[in-house]
Amino acid sequence: MTEKFVLAIDQGTTSSRAIVFNHSGQIVGVGQQEFEQIFPNPGWVEHNPIEIWDSVRTVVADALVAAGINKDDLISVGITNQRETAVVWDKNTGEPVYNAIVWQDTRTAPIVRELAGDEGVEKYKDRVGLPLATYFSGTKIKWILDNVEGARARAEAGDLLFGTTDSWVLWNLTGGTEGGVHKTDVTNASRTLLMNLKTLEWEPDICADFGIPMSMLPQICSSSEVYGHGREHGLLTGIPISGILGDQQAATFGQACFEIGMAKNTYGTGCFMLMNTGEEVVFSQNGLLTTLCYKIGDQKAVYALEGSIAVAGSLIQWLRDNLKIIGSAPEVEDMALTVEDNGGVYFVPAFSGLFAPYWRDDARGAIVGMTRYNTQGHLARAALEATAFQTREVLDAMDADAGVALKELRVDGGMIANNTLMQFQADVLGVDVVAPVVAETTALGAAYAAGIAVGFWEGEADVIANWQEAKRWTPNMDEKEVQRTYRLWKKAVTKSMAWVDEDVK
Ligand code: ADP
Repeated sequence: MTEKFVLAIDQGTTSSRAIVFNHSGQIVGVGQQEFEQIFPNPGWVEHNPIEIWDSVRTVVADALVAAGINKDDLISVGITNQRETAVVWDKNTGEPVYNAIVWQDTRTAPIVRELAGDEGVEKYKDRVGLPLATYFSGTKIKWILDNVEGARARAEAGDLLFGTTDSWVLWNLTGGTEGGVHKTDVTNASRTLLMNLKTLEWEPDICADFGIPMSMLPQICSSSEVYGHGREHGLLTGIPISGILGDQQAATFGQACFEIGMAKNTYGTGCFMLMNTGEEVVFSQNGLLTTLCYKIGDQKAVYALEGSIAVAGSLIQWLRDNLKIIGSAPEVEDMALTVEDNGGVYFVPAFSGLFAPYWRDDARGAIVGMTRYNTQGHLARAALEATAFQTREVLDAMDADAGVALKELRVDGGMIANNTLMQFQADVLGVDVVAPVVAETTALGAAYAAGIAVGFWEGEADVIANWQEAKRWTPNMDEKEVQRTYRLWKKAVTKSMAWVDEDVK
């Protein structure tokens, strides 16, 4: 028998990637393409869905070429995606009615206030696991229906479809206007504010509160089953599409966090820590989200607690693109190493408000503690430390919710290439930080979900067997110094809050 492969499509926030994996979970070919980040107003972030779909087509072709295979060598395809980013399109023409509104976008703050009313932002939490916040896709769908001329009438007539980018890619891959399937998986659906965590179905009365016709919503499926096949004469003709996981859940899967209490943190554009809580729904008392971790076919759903941090690697991009004090992301480490410590500077990157554990959309970025002594080195260091401190706050919340302290943290994502950051992370967490050999855990997780559905892999045991440790950082900072600097970080956070008044633009 000739060797077979699984293709993972990773439709991320800043780029689309496609990666071909072999049966050992090793990478044999990669395609990657960035796409435009559109910032029409302060706090607004959009993507062009057509550009996203074009980028997916390009990277799939590139990955197959890089692997030296053709589509018939693929046994199945998995999709993983930036979560919460909302696309609304016309099912008759395939045309989006508006740009995709990206997860970081804060324009829906007034919608959040209106929906929360007197009951507050936690009014749906016992059903959906989430507070009302700009982050989640439901508020973004409502914005499009409220603000794009004619959209509501077209939605009510049954002409419009909503999807996160997994659904958008799946619909296009499987035929688009010619029979494309309109489905999503439980992990993506759990980020809309519209799905009941226990029944795994859309909640009609929450949809009604939002004014979202249920005919727009994709069918909710497991994370590992055959949703459809590549369309005839299309990109991946006849190949089953059989795995979907939101990017953070995919990374959790790819990191083999299958036991209760195992956790991973992904350091990309933002930072996302997920802890497996098994088949029980655990509600957070400490500002974390309750979310679906994964569901394999007919098996029971597995849940997770999540701490989401909006700005991590994107702060390094901001130093590069807006301040222009570095030419590339890795240079931030060289700049940070020109100084011994942060020189008293703390940088709270609340560009999209503060996510976990605070959930404050009235916060904005703050650089505090500056004196005449400070240099760009201190700023670079403070920017890196911001990621580590935010992660510490999330870990504290996880420990409190779980009732036991985490023993070690599995890490992945672009920022883990930064050794200075990872050592500081271990220092401020006080636990070992561990990176796997295959750092592309997000794509890997989607590939596993797709491969398990078609019997290419047996199940979680194969994922565990393939996982290998590449690097470990061990805490090495004086405990008193950790306490001192963490206390100052927390003080800095208070300075970023309550910045947005009615007249702040
Ligand atoms: P995403 O999947 O969210 O697009 P990635 O996992 O590809 O993100 O990580 C890219 C992010 O990591 C970028 O925001 C970039 O600024 C940051 N990054 C990449 N290399 C480094 C580095 N050496 N030091 C710090 N940040 C880095």
